[in-house]
Amino acid sequence: MTTGRPDTARTHRRPRNRTVRVLLALVAVAAVLGVALVVVPMLRPAGPRPLFQMPVSCGETWQLGTYPGHDDYDVDLFPTEGEAWGRPVLASYAGTVTVAGINGSLGGRTPDNPDGPRGRGGGYWVKIDHGGKWETQYLHMLEPPLVEVGQKVAQGEQIGRLGSTGNSGAPHLHYEQRRGWDKVETHFDGEPSTVTTDDREYTVKRTSNNCPAAVS
Ligand SMILES: [Zn+2]
Repeated sequence: MTTGRPDTARTHRRPRNRTVRVLLALVAVAAVLGVALVVVPMLRPAGPRPLFQMPVSCGETWQLGTYPGHDDYDVDLFPTEGEAWGRPVLASYAGTVTVAGINGSLGGRTPDNPDGPRGRGGGYWVKIDHGGKWETQYLHMLEPPLVEVGQKVAQGEQIGRLGSTGNSGAPHLHYEQRRGWDKVETHFDGEPSTVTTDDREYTVKRTSNNCPAAVS
């Protein structure tokens, strides 16, 4: 027997189906927007390499080195003259501070007892975003960084003092340059440092040209 019921039921189902379709469409739009906002910037190519300078004072000669188990492209800096403790650590290039804190643990090392029990990781450290996917990192500093997250720094601005916090055997600055997710060979004053693989121990010497900009 034919009645009006199936039609009635269908007309009652339709608005619900439409609601589901609208919700699904909204979810799809949100997913596409998510991809556009999050993934697309990640895929964008890096900008040109900034003209990085050494993270130490103008005119000083420092030893740059690495050793097996360090990591490719990691650089450890030691001064060739004078006391290492407390030496100024300078921004390699202008940028915005994205990390200023403790990596790993300090161990027993404090500014009053900088040679105390060894900690883990990078100790007091700073990360600077230079734009165009370029960033630099500065590790094992003596005391809390002199800058804070979100702060804009100029090239050559002091961000901390050299120390030995974290997993460090002697006072030095561990330094990295990164493009996107990748560590790359450090460049200073437009020249590659030649500190690349960590398959052996070796050092090079370079003189810092992280000098105040000439005023004309
Ligand atoms: Zn290191």
